[in-house]
Amino acid sequence: MKRIGVLTSGGDAPGMNAAVRAVVRTAVYHDMSVIGFKRGYNGPLMQNRNHTDDFEILTERNVSGVIHRGGTFLMTARCLDFHKQEVQEKAIKNMRALGLEGLVVIGGDGTFRGAHALNNLGFPTVGIPGTIDNDLAYTDFTLGFDTAVNTAIDSVNRIRETSESHERASLITVMGRNCGDLAVHTALACGAEYALVPEKEWYVEDIADKLKWGVLTGKRSNIIIFAEGAFNSLKSNMHELCHKYEALKGIENDQMTSSKLAHVLEVLSGHEVRATVLGYIQRGGSPSGSDRILGSRLGAHAVELLLNNKGGRAVGIRENKIIDVPFEEITGVIRPLNNELVDLINVLSHNTE
Ligand code: ATP
Repeated sequence: MKRIGVLTSGGDAPGMNAAVRAVVRTAVYHDMSVIGFKRGYNGPLMQNRNHTDDFEILTERNVSGVIHRGGTFLMTARCLDFHKQEVQEKAIKNMRALGLEGLVVIGGDGTFRGAHALNNLGFPTVGIPGTIDNDLAYTDFTLGFDTAVNTAIDSVNRIRETSESHERASLITVMGRNCGDLAVHTALACGAEYALVPEKEWYVEDIADKLKWGVLTGKRSNIIIFAEGAFNSLKSNMHELCHKYEALKGIENDQMTSSKLAHVLEVLSGHEVRATVLGYIQRGGSPSGSDRILGSRLGAHAVELLLNNKGGRAVGIRENKIIDVPFEEITGVIRPLNNELVDLINVLSHNTE
């Protein structure tokens, strides 16, 4: 193999630049050249009007000074057309015209589906897990997760100071549509009282009761870490509840949001609750040491797979060992909830006084 491509796709994640850097430097070390495609799968489709901004040749020098930068210097974007086989074939044709013999993609589950399709069409493709959600079950950690947890911890620390001063509870919403890992790790690391996640059913009345009891027994701060997908695991009959309390009338017909949930908790517990949605702040920032090291290890291993004609696989980490797994075994398999950590949050926040 003499020339390979690399792209970042899906949501950006800190550590993607470290992985691209490792792909380029490992490839150059093995006498290969690298083309970096811009904006995910849009890059190899070369649909930019002037065709000058779809890709660039990456040398060791192009990737110096990027390991500490968040985001992805190759940029990322969704490319909905890539679901179509004729579009995937067009990308392969364009890549072959550039002399490419393999591709490394960095992204989440959707990105891996695209990579799997390219590989099935005969173009050797390898995946690196890059998403702050940590929602891919085959790997212990995805690139960006550790940084996102640390960013969330930093934000929660700040919110805790103000909520303690005002003796109010805080509902802090973190990312995680299907996977509660970010919420669980943040909650444990912050000493939060609750982690509400998409994988585990919960009742708003239970949280309000615990909140009320905590306040009665002298707790000055109550932190609830809420994964954005946990609205889907809420089992309370909101219609009934909202009819029971005058202050909640009207809410039952609205779509639930974090601030509405905080209001419901406030009414049910009689204690002030404020909502904060961390949003895109969790995606940004300089990658942590762990993510820089993980990106470097995964990037190097991805290139070695291509060199050994082992396309069709995604790299990952298990028990601190770099592994690779065929795409067909991993796409669509969501990580199960880590019940051990959830139980630990409950034990460590248990209030018996
Ligand atoms: P994140 O976890 O950050 O959302 P992701 O990689 O799962 O990352 P998606 O938006 O699901 O993000 O997918 C990224 C891109 O991968 C899509 O815009 C599309 O170009 C491609 N893709 C997704 N699903 C498929 C599929 N089934 N077949 C081909 N390509 C796909």
